Amino acid sequence: MRRVPSRSVTLTGWGRVAPSRAELAEPSSPAEAAVLLDHAAPAHGVIARGLGRSYNNAAQCGGGLVISTARLNRIISLDPATGLACCEAGVSLEQLMVAGMASGWFVPVTPGTRHVTIGGAIAADVHGKNHFAEGSFAQHVTGFGLLLPSGEQRTVTPDGDPELFWATAGGMGLTGLITSATVQLKRVETALVKVHTVRTADLAETMAVLAEHDKTYSYTLAWSDSLARGARLGRSVITSGDFARLDDLPADRRASALAYEPRTRIGVPGGIPPGLINRYTVALASTAWYLKAPRERRDELQTISHFFHPLDGIRNWNRVYGPGGFRQYQYVVPAGQEDAVRESYRLVSEARAASFVTVLKRLGERDPGPLSFPIAGWTLALDVPARTPGLAGLLARLDALVAGAGGRVYLAKDSRVPAGMLARMYPGLDGFRELRARLDPKGVLASDLSRRLGL
Ligand SMILES: Cc1cc2nc3c(=O)[nH]c(=O)nc-3n(C[C@H](O)[C@H](O)[C@H](O)COP(=O)(O)OP(=O)(O)OC[C@H]3O[C@@H](n4cnc5c(N)ncnc54)[C@H](O)[C@@H]3O)c2cc1C
Repeated sequence: MRRVPSRSVTLTGWGRVAPSRAELAEPSSPAEAAVLLDHAAPAHGVIARGLGRSYNNAAQCGGGLVISTARLNRIISLDPATGLACCEAGVSLEQLMVAGMASGWFVPVTPGTRHVTIGGAIAADVHGKNHFAEGSFAQHVTGFGLLLPSGEQRTVTPDGDPELFWATAGGMGLTGLITSATVQLKRVETALVKVHTVRTADLAETMAVLAEHDKTYSYTLAWSDSLARGARLGRSVITSGDFARLDDLPADRRASALAYEPRTRIGVPGGIPPGLINRYTVALASTAWYLKAPRERRDELQTISHFFHPLDGIRNWNRVYGPGGFRQYQYVVPAGQEDAVRESYRLVSEARAASFVTVLKRLGERDPGPLSFPIAGWTLALDVPARTPGLAGLLARLDALVAGAGGRVYLAKDSRVPAGMLARMYPGLDGFRELRARLDPKGVLASDLSRRLGL
């Protein structure tokens, strides 16, 4: 087969930190991807890239080859009776939602953006607002095609090869290139979510309401005011919900109950001043957001985009942080470590770190993936401008707190945790490395992230 063309590009992740230059190729079939792997120089490395929505450099390979799945973007089949969808790896969740919703099927798990590929969703083993009830994305995958570093194409299922399946789920592209996957979608009667909103006064109330809503709703999360302090520390707006049933809709909306048209309303203009997001603007915006929320409201019907993907309403919102980019920090600590969660809020508030998107959720039971992030407990995500004074010290304190509490940071988001600290957080890391050594003895697969952390 002929050589697949590539071009030299500079890539970053969604946080726009740590750019690196690589050759980027866009094969249009698994066979073309196999040719690329075959010709790759092991010394330079190869890694897969989906839509580049990981915040860090997980989908970059400085000096090497990045294989984009942009052209592996066909939905091969979608059975309207069973909701089983077979897709090429570059199909986005948005594509799958649009195709599935026509016959009442929704993706089983969605992260906070719909601009994520199936390959990226498996490789990071993404979770959504329903992890406590429905687990991570990979738990709904019945099998995938994997192009191994040796060039062998394998079909991997959780029963047929559990070790490889679960190492790939969360393995950040380091076990092979996922070429396709079969996903079990979730039955819904409408494309609207019936939402219960609660505004809480402090962290104790936030955690109590989240725990309570776990028992009642399929989806829930808290957006917190990260700069609130004292008696207001951890005050939040919690939104929880379930897909509305047909009879939840007014009669005149039932005919279009499954209508779903995701739209991006506006874009961020160029030339944003570097200091726009700072502790003062974030304090103002957070207070306004918090005060605008009702103390309590039930049964509000929200669209999928509003409830699941509010940030997708603004194209390129990551530019708002200016040219220096931003760091996302997400940790999970086990249930029972509520004091660690409280301490993390205190550290962030005390450091006056301006995080507008500060989200607390509860996660359910973990799956067997050695690098899969979720464990049963509490997860907090923060977005902080990279140039925030004192940020490195704050994040190092959070690392120590999280590791001490038996928790970990998320590899789809981390851009700075030290390798030794990561090893404390992921006890399965050595096993993952051993599997990699067996699968990829020449070390063909590598990313900027894997090199930094020795994955
Ligand atoms: C606004 C926003 C909200 C988010 N919310 C959440 C959330 O709620 N929960 C959550 O879990 N995550 C969340 N994320 C993170 C995101 O879901 C993951 O980083 C996801 O992996 C991105 O998918 P992608 O297609 O953009 O992959 P990329 O970012 O391009 O790649 C991510 C990793 O997947 C690997 N990869 C990609 N395609 C393949 C393939 N075909 N085969 C093998 N490996 C592959 C890459 O090598 C890389 O290691 C969010 C991100 C954003 C920007």
